[in-house]
Amino acid sequence: MSVPFNDLKRQHDILATELNDAIHRVMRSGYYILGPEVSQFETEFATYCTSRHAIGVANGTDAIQLALLAVGVRPNDEVITVANAGVPGTAAIIAIGAIPVFVDVDPQTRNLDPNALEVAITSRTRAIMPVHLYGLMADMPAIMRIAAQHAIPVVEDVAQAHGATLHGHVAGSLGAVAAFSFYPTKNLGAVGDGGAVVTNSDEIATRVKRLRQYGWERKYYTTEQRGINSRLDELQAALLRVKLRHLAASTERRQEIAQMYAAAFATLPISLPTIPDGYQSVYHLYVIESDQRDALQHALKQAGVGTDIHYPLPTHQQPVYQQFAPSTRMIHTEHLAMHVLSLPNFPELQDGEVAHVIDAVRHALSTVL
Ligand SMILES: *Cc1c(COP(=O)(O)O)cnc(C)c1O
Repeated sequence: MSVPFNDLKRQHDILATELNDAIHRVMRSGYYILGPEVSQFETEFATYCTSRHAIGVANGTDAIQLALLAVGVRPNDEVITVANAGVPGTAAIIAIGAIPVFVDVDPQTRNLDPNALEVAITSRTRAIMPVHLYGLMADMPAIMRIAAQHAIPVVEDVAQAHGATLHGHVAGSLGAVAAFSFYPTKNLGAVGDGGAVVTNSDEIATRVKRLRQYGWERKYYTTEQRGINSRLDELQAALLRVKLRHLAASTERRQEIAQMYAAAFATLPISLPTIPDGYQSVYHLYVIESDQRDALQHALKQAGVGTDIHYPLPTHQQPVYQQFAPSTRMIHTEHLAMHVLSLPNFPELQDGEVAHVIDAVRHALSTVL
């Protein structure tokens, strides 16, 4: 048996009738950009996030850029973030001329460490951007407390945590503004690129709506702030509306698979995701840590199990971002990059496939170690 790391075709086969109906509805409508599908999706997604506003944009990286601009980040301002979440957040910070300031993560949650945050704040810090990595929220109460003391807005990167909660609060509803991605493999994925900015602030929402379309305050008039073109297509919005209706069920299935892994791996010499009390992970990824990561990945490949590494090279060690490396080492960020391994965990995975992954991990660890 072979088990793929992910297989988006399965989801699309299951939803084929609903998705095809949506596609044809849009094709027949004659409305392809910022029409009724986008505004209805925005309403539905805002509700899902228990927030007042959702603004559809072209992708998650744009969502971050627009969110940062909307809270007032300007060229040469500093934005505090993490270096273990791939490069999109950093690319977005740099795209608007701001400076990424990296802080280490907590080794348990693998998310921005509030203790490291406090010391990184300077008079030039204009935003704090935690990433809710792998489906688990960062320690928002602590981050919000520190941010409030310094009157700095918090921008949540929720690209991997649609629907995650902390003490019942939904990811993206706690900071000043939040950025979501609908990249196809995300928990809520389009059939192409897509993203959204979510906020409870009417003012920020108005600014993002302008920024996503040339800065227009009304059609053809840009007088206050220059914008870009970053719109969500009607077609993607219509498809996302279908998938949003199934998101709760697919999240439950991801959680169920994670429980199966957790139970099976409890006594093995690997580290499993730790979910602190009060947190609910939506398991965008099921990430283990192993001292023998590369050998384990190789053995799983031999057993037909697809895996991936999120992410193998921390952002501050990427040649093009090295200039932003902090003066002190980020021990946990660096350790994670060498030890993390993502196992298959997508909603359409069958129980038999999960069992095969479990057997393969057990067998690999008994032979590799
Ligand atoms: C996917 C992702 C993004 C970027 O989203 P795109 O839609 O690919 O631009 C940003 N941050 C994180 C943590 C992501 O996983």
